[in-house]
Amino acid sequence: MTQHFANGLPKRVPLFIEGEWTQSESSQWIPVTNPATQEVITEAPCATEAEVERAVASAKAAFASWKDVAVPVRARIMLQYQHLLKQHHDEIATILAQETGKTFDDAKGDVWRGIEVVEHACNIASLMMGETVENVARTIDCYSYTQPLGVCFGITPFNFPAMIPLWMFPLAIACGNTFILKPSEQDPLTPTRLVELFEQAGAPKGVLQVIHGGKDQVNQLLTHPEVKAVSFVGSVPVGEHVYRTATQHLKRAQCFAGAKNHMVVMPDANKQQVINNLVGAGFGAAGQRCMAISVAVMVGESKEWVDDLKIAASKIRPGAWDDKDAAYGPQISPQARDRVLAFIEKGKQEGANCILDGSDCVVEGFPDGNWVGPTIFTDVTTDMEIYKNEIFGPVLCIITVDTLDEAIALINACPFGNGTSIFTASGACARKYQHEILVGQVGINVPVPVPLPFFSFTGWRASFYGDQHAYGKQAVRFYTETKTVTARWFDEDIPGGPNMTINLK
Ligand code: NAD
Repeated sequence: MTQHFANGLPKRVPLFIEGEWTQSESSQWIPVTNPATQEVITEAPCATEAEVERAVASAKAAFASWKDVAVPVRARIMLQYQHLLKQHHDEIATILAQETGKTFDDAKGDVWRGIEVVEHACNIASLMMGETVENVARTIDCYSYTQPLGVCFGITPFNFPAMIPLWMFPLAIACGNTFILKPSEQDPLTPTRLVELFEQAGAPKGVLQVIHGGKDQVNQLLTHPEVKAVSFVGSVPVGEHVYRTATQHLKRAQCFAGAKNHMVVMPDANKQQVINNLVGAGFGAAGQRCMAISVAVMVGESKEWVDDLKIAASKIRPGAWDDKDAAYGPQISPQARDRVLAFIEKGKQEGANCILDGSDCVVEGFPDGNWVGPTIFTDVTTDMEIYKNEIFGPVLCIITVDTLDEAIALINACPFGNGTSIFTASGACARKYQHEILVGQVGINVPVPVPLPFFSFTGWRASFYGDQHAYGKQAVRFYTETKTVTARWFDEDIPGGPNMTINLK
């Protein structure tokens, strides 16, 4: 068993092809840095064309036998995998925290949300069940099976390097497919450890490959005739490109993209809950969550709570992953931090009122970290750039409206539809909101309503391209094809005639 982490973090990230860990022959390597210090902790290769080709050939060859492995055997590998992930939970979180900068608790949460999807995959036999109708015509029965597609391909973002790969390959493989994973080049170590454990769980050679790189490696696979389905999670422009290219090449695709998530605050809501939840959902994980709350829509008198929100937000601060008092970590890269700072500057220029400014954030002992402090803008309008764009940082925009109807109209006019929440003590307001809002994941007094894996992750509109979503029953539909059988057996073929008892000897 290869243990790349036996002596600390590996200096170079290996590829995983044909069930073997191999060093890439690439001449292009991407440095991976600790975002709190800029120390280069490892390097990820841009896999060569030949290596990508080998990954496809291996996945194709493995599919020929893997698709026929009994479903309970596949489920047992997932059970063992779930057990190993739980056993190594803290260790994976420590690797994850070092390369993403997430606080240890947050890193553990990232791993845990992935483990829950593996638990869901343990139930694959029930999930893959087809349908049956007897007697669709006399002596004719109709039934359906779900069968795997072949080689599937997954492209993942930096912000959940455990959870999002685990959204994809366990379910795809449990369905009988083989899989090629292309993790984010910004944090490739966590997926490496996840795959080592998958191998240890008994996954046969070739069912999973890992290649590293960026645009070129992705494009080679998006246009490859052997790739049957593509799962993507990442930013809007790349998501659009992946969806267009994959579908143009007649592949199935599901692409989860950016977001702008609103929390509606009704004046009858529990004020302290609103403040605590806005601080957690707006600034947690440095705002680098596709379900982060980036806009608070204060309805009526709830606007009076903004001063107290500011006081609560000014009490939290970012810090290094092992700093127990840190509320969140750094932005993933200096470029990501500069992008957030540029939006804060833009907000000021376009007339929003920056009541809490995290631009000059300093963290003692970490002068080179990509820090941004909690930032709040009031007087934000929907034509401003800070409203129209996903900032992906600890920046909360506040908009005030007079009525719930106005709040709903504003949110429904926003192109994104990933997540939203309403805080209220009124069942009637909550019911109206859940019914009328054009957003795929709605929280009622729950700020970040990420569904557990027996449901699906159901972003809408510009936050998602495709039709079948991640995990839940929809992922199984995405990773399988339905075969319908219409079968007729003739009574007169019964040995001895239709009314005879059959003697089977
Ligand atoms: P990104 O789009 O920059 O990268 C995502 C993946 O695409 C990476 O593996 C990257 O290597 C690859 N990639 C980058 N440029 C490419 C190109 N030109 N062609 C082909 N592949 C390319 O995203 P990111 O910065 O890693 O992640 C943050 C984004 O992900 C945010 O927008 C966030 O909202 C989104 N996200 C969405 C969800 C969701 O469920 N909707 C979940 C998590 C993150």
